[in-house]
Amino acid sequence: MNLELVDPSSAEEYEDPLDLMDEIDRLKVEKDATILAHYYVDGEIQDVADFNGDSLKLARDATKVSTSTIVFCGVHFMAESAKILNPEKKVLLPDMLAGCSLAESCPADRLAAHQAKLRAEGHDFETVAYINTTAAVKSLSDWIVTSGNAREIIDRVPADKEILFVPDQHLGRYLAEVSGRELMLWPGSCMVHEIFSVQDLLRAKRNNPGSEVIAHPECPKTILDESDFIGGTEKMRRHVMETTEPTTFLVATESAMIHPLTKSAPQHTYIPVPGLMESTGETCACNRCPHMARNTLQKLRDCLKNGQPEIVWQPYFEKAREVLTRSLLQ
Ligand code: SF4
Repeated sequence: MNLELVDPSSAEEYEDPLDLMDEIDRLKVEKDATILAHYYVDGEIQDVADFNGDSLKLARDATKVSTSTIVFCGVHFMAESAKILNPEKKVLLPDMLAGCSLAESCPADRLAAHQAKLRAEGHDFETVAYINTTAAVKSLSDWIVTSGNAREIIDRVPADKEILFVPDQHLGRYLAEVSGRELMLWPGSCMVHEIFSVQDLLRAKRNNPGSEVIAHPECPKTILDESDFIGGTEKMRRHVMETTEPTTFLVATESAMIHPLTKSAPQHTYIPVPGLMESTGETCACNRCPHMARNTLQKLRDCLKNGQPEIVWQPYFEKAREVLTRSLLQ
């Protein structure tokens, strides 16, 4: 597993972040653009964005944008979703190489072959795909879920149908547990959430008596079993806002999430749960998604200036659009 945070070939010359932020503000107006930023990108990018949020919130925000251009600071499948929901708009992604290990774990051709095999075996099922999938996979699915609405969508699948859940096995296992439905799981996972070590979490709990563990449902079961609150990023944010008593939260998700949590509920202390690097056995201070880390202020400025890289409409986006709209916007 390659856990390098930044591709050395993409090293950028230092530029003052405040100058870059001013330039981005100017370019936004000049280019008639709106910036959407996921909670997992750097805090300074979240600060220049017009909308911040998790996948579900940003997919919904994307439909409210009135400018001709959307710049999506996140990863490729998210920018694809923004384009699918806004076919007439120009959608830019600061770095086209910002992928997602989870989306890549479920290629469309392998999913189509698996679905055909299950049908040949007599299974009568609907496919529920986590939003962290390519548009091609979405077009092969019946429903799209995010960690924020997954439970609700699972409940909408008729009781006489089986469910094939792709691609995150940990989220799937968690959903099976909370919904009481049996799910056929795809063996995918997110590289960032996969490396959380339960020993590190237990040590962090011991060192912070009285703390509360909040975890993303993409984390392995061993971590979820030790957690006090499980929820997607938006649910986490609401949970800390609703907690009035100053609390120490041990946060088991991408470490950039500390930024929106601190902004939303500054009365608390947030400690990122350390992960254990599988390759080296070293404990790292935080869990950064190497794909999200490809988003930088410089690349954001450059893509606003040059009008690229752009997400180009593909024929299968039409089918993906039907599924996304039914699942997330109705
Ligand atoms: S944190 Fe995991 S699921 Fe999210 S974009 Fe990165 S690799 Fe994909």
